[in-house]
Amino acid sequence: MKSIVWFRHNLRLSDNPSLHEAARQGAVLPVALWDPSADILPDGARKWWRQESLRVMGDRLARLGAPMAFFRGAPEEILPRLARRFSIDAVRVSPGRTRTERRSDERLGRALREAGVRLLVDPDDYLVPPDCIPEGRSGPWKVFTPFWRRVRATLAPERPLPAPSRIDGVPDVTGEPLENWGWDPHAPDWAKTMRTTWVPGEGAAQDRLAAFVEKGLAGYALRRDFPGKEGSSRLSPHLAAGEISPRQIWWAVEESGAPSRDREKFLSELGWREFSAHLLHHHPDLLESPLRPEFRGYPWSGNGPGLSAWKKGLTGFPLVDAGMRELRLTGWMPNRVRMVAASLLVKNLNISWIAGLSWFADNLVDYDPASNAASWQWVAGCGADAAPFFRVMNPVLQGERYDPRGNYVRRFIPELSGVPDRIVHRPWLIRKESGPSEPMNGSAYPSPVVDLKSSRARALDNFHNLRQS
Ligand code: FAD
Repeated sequence: MKSIVWFRHNLRLSDNPSLHEAARQGAVLPVALWDPSADILPDGARKWWRQESLRVMGDRLARLGAPMAFFRGAPEEILPRLARRFSIDAVRVSPGRTRTERRSDERLGRALREAGVRLLVDPDDYLVPPDCIPEGRSGPWKVFTPFWRRVRATLAPERPLPAPSRIDGVPDVTGEPLENWGWDPHAPDWAKTMRTTWVPGEGAAQDRLAAFVEKGLAGYALRRDFPGKEGSSRLSPHLAAGEISPRQIWWAVEESGAPSRDREKFLSELGWREFSAHLLHHHPDLLESPLRPEFRGYPWSGNGPGLSAWKKGLTGFPLVDAGMRELRLTGWMPNRVRMVAASLLVKNLNISWIAGLSWFADNLVDYDPASNAASWQWVAGCGADAAPFFRVMNPVLQGERYDPRGNYVRRFIPELSGVPDRIVHRPWLIRKESGPSEPMNGSAYPSPVVDLKSSRARALDNFHNLRQS
């Protein structure tokens, strides 16, 4: 049997069901595709990561005997053509996740049937397939805690599959050079700091997991919320690119010997990834429509100057600005800071969560359509298991609680280097203490773009009116 393995979500050799099965059954043609017409949101940082990761995969596959071929265009046009040309029996792939991917898979299935080629859809990269999760009594799960309790109680993921030791390739296939896709940023090269921060690829993902399990997992439950302590695993970009599987992480954590509190907390965070996938599976419009229909009439302000200040990290609230600057530089932001930055945008600046979702999609190296959309809806209060709308996060109090000495904010906001710890999250006070004309540390850091108290009251009024109507 001769198969095409389409590397769509899983850029790895180990624990890759499609590759494992195809290599066991015969010759393999590994393929990566890019269909520009299916790009629904800009995702520049993720593309940068993916390109690096595809290069690593390409090298590894070539060493095993099956070089990867790159093609640009619609899967339903390219894959049947390749199958005919190289007498392929089956195309193997993981299931489509977004609505766009699922529709494309239907077209692909039809086109392959016409060509007499089988489409084999292998299990997706989740501990439990999003469509197989037992539903709650009134349909798909809407609340995380009972969902996770149920999943966790019965979950026994199989052992990860080994990487094939050699693969029979399909000779004489020429695609196009990966460089032609133009995913490497230039003029300007905005990925400079990303290159020094991250190492994409399967090997680096395994190294990160091993280092986290050895040094970071014990104490995770306490440290994860403190951005200055770097207490989380930073596995998210590797997971988003499919360079490591949740099963591999699960087993490494289960067998780690770390305190059970830390193991359970960490596995429940992986559980949020599962829950987000479950939501996207059952609500394919998760990326553009609020799950709570009453929010469709929410009176958002337009995308004014507040949005631009937020994107640039110039809101005047250090925790938010440090996070937004970290995002632009490195493509990543700690979870607590994501929540606070999102809350400021949606609740205080009254700007729709869709604008935030798009900005994150373009800038996160770990951009994942399900986790991003579910998280934005959670913060905005319009999602399934949403934070109650009246819980408006105060960026000053959050900063004082989770970054009490300002270590995190000073790392990304040089203007704050001379500001004493006690007011580092209220830098406007330095002007009062040293006189209004005294610039902070020689350069200007902006005053807050919004009054927290009155904007919070406005958000609560809007919500109240929404419920009344
Ligand atoms: P750890 O704390 O080490 O957690 C381990 C893994 O669990 C993560 O790698 C991730 O895969 C998963 N996980 C943890 N928290 C969550 C969560 N709340 N929801 C879903 N999965 C989670 N995560 C993404 O992977 N991609 C996104 O596009 C994304 N967008 C977000 C947008 C907003 C507004 C918010 C508030 C959160 C978003 N998250 C997203 C969730 C979370 O912030 C990141 O997964 C986490 O910060 C990644 O860091 P880590 O790998 O060190 O996490």
